[in-house]
Amino acid sequence: MAWLKKEPLRSLKKDLGKDKLLTSPEELLLYGYDATSYRGEPIAVVMAETTDDIRGAVNFARDEGYKITPRGAGSGLSGGSVPVDGGIVISCERMNSILKVDVDNQYIVVQPGVVTSIVQEAAARHKLFYPPDPSSYTISTIGGNVAENAGGLRCFKYGVTGHYVLGIEFIDAEGNLYHTGALDDKDHNPDLTPLLVGSEGTLGIFSQIALRLIRAPEETVTISAYFNDQKSVFNSIDKIISSGCVPSVLEYIDGKALTASARHIGIDFPEDAVGLLLIELDGFKAEIESALTYIKELLADITVEMNIASLESDRKRLWQLRRGISPSLIRISSGKIHEDVAVPRHRLLDLVEFIRETEDKFNLEIPFYGHAGDGNLHVVIMYDADQGGQQEKANKASQGIFKAAIDMGGTITGEHGIGYAKRQYLPWQQPDKVIELYRQIKDLLDPQGLFNPEKVLTTR
Ligand SMILES: Cc1cc2nc3c(=O)[nH]c(=O)nc-3n(C[C@H](O)[C@H](O)[C@H](O)COP(=O)(O)OP(=O)(O)OC[C@H]3O[C@@H](n4cnc5c(N)ncnc54)[C@H](O)[C@@H]3O)c2cc1C
Repeated sequence: MAWLKKEPLRSLKKDLGKDKLLTSPEELLLYGYDATSYRGEPIAVVMAETTDDIRGAVNFARDEGYKITPRGAGSGLSGGSVPVDGGIVISCERMNSILKVDVDNQYIVVQPGVVTSIVQEAAARHKLFYPPDPSSYTISTIGGNVAENAGGLRCFKYGVTGHYVLGIEFIDAEGNLYHTGALDDKDHNPDLTPLLVGSEGTLGIFSQIALRLIRAPEETVTISAYFNDQKSVFNSIDKIISSGCVPSVLEYIDGKALTASARHIGIDFPEDAVGLLLIELDGFKAEIESALTYIKELLADITVEMNIASLESDRKRLWQLRRGISPSLIRISSGKIHEDVAVPRHRLLDLVEFIRETEDKFNLEIPFYGHAGDGNLHVVIMYDADQGGQQEKANKASQGIFKAAIDMGGTITGEHGIGYAKRQYLPWQQPDKVIELYRQIKDLLDPQGLFNPEKVLTTR
């Protein structure tokens, strides 16, 4: 039946212009995945270069009855940009221009395909700062960050992507173009921006985004502290926070993730260390000095090694083990489920104990690491994908960890979103009436259910 579909696709190709429609099997393969193990097969990929390209593709898909999967860089960890229902992928990666940097009013307007680190660098050139810092910052796009309300390393002090979104230009499933917040030059109210942040590509496609910038910190200091017992790590985090210090980064890496990363990079760490706490302080010099004095005193007797760096090159060295985790874990296991549960910070140790019990119960390796200051841990359930029954075991372990996080007053996703991976677990943490309300909002903007089918919500 494929020939039936070819004629309309030809007309879309003609309307879009040269090189903007991909249809070869090799090209389609490249747009069928994200950073999870889910895979999909689109019928075509639109490489949008303008807002009009997105509108044209949306109108075409609606009229021809195709589903639409919006896509940034495909670095998502919840299956959000995987075209699980086929249809058309609309990729925003070529929409990668910075449209405006307003230094006096401290904001930047970008197309959705601009990579996060490019925004950070553009701000830095003007002594300004774009704080959101997902670990994927060198690959992820702003469109994907806004759609996932991405968090990251500096959340504890600076908050998540949504705290910096001033306005959005977006297209709904009818092909209508809207401007919200700061991008609405007539009136900012009512401001629909917060509704769109974290909508995971289910309500519309963003074609422009205005982001708030702030003054760049005067100095940054990084501290790496190795512990030989886990309880002291979490006690120290509580003490640092209750002392009034506000580190920009409070990142924990457990012994298993540490070992994998150290082997991968080829560097050593203290033999008796069971965990590493990475702390970063930024701001005015005087502010950093007093926080640093407190932290050094607190950690001096309870750590097995502590390093402090303020030069960029030395700080980068202290970050090596954290940056090496993801690539190292990919190499040592054929199957992995990457969860990002979050709990109230005072329950972190309970969550860690539960993870260790789960390891023993299912006989699986479960390294973890993450944004401990926010109570958000990335829990990686490793299994042998070639051995029968292992994946089912890993799924059960994952479900148990979800339940435990919810029971502790937490969530099944701290920052990676619900997407395709966790949609069936959404009712575990949200009452039916909230899920139904979201369905009704989606029906208004996307009455035919074109955008990102099977994501966040299951089919009715
Ligand atoms: C090594 C690694 C580290 C990571 N670290 C972090 C971290 O610290 N914090 C964190 O929060 N996440 C992290 N992530 C997850 C991921 O990078 C983020 O979710 C990121 O925001 C996804 O951006 P993307 O451009 O790759 O989007 P994609 O994966 O392409 O898409 C993600 C979602 O956004 C939607 N979307 C994309 N573009 C648009 C658009 N223009 N309009 C509407 N919807 C759109 C898609 O449909 C999909 O639902 C990490 C991932 C990896 C692989």
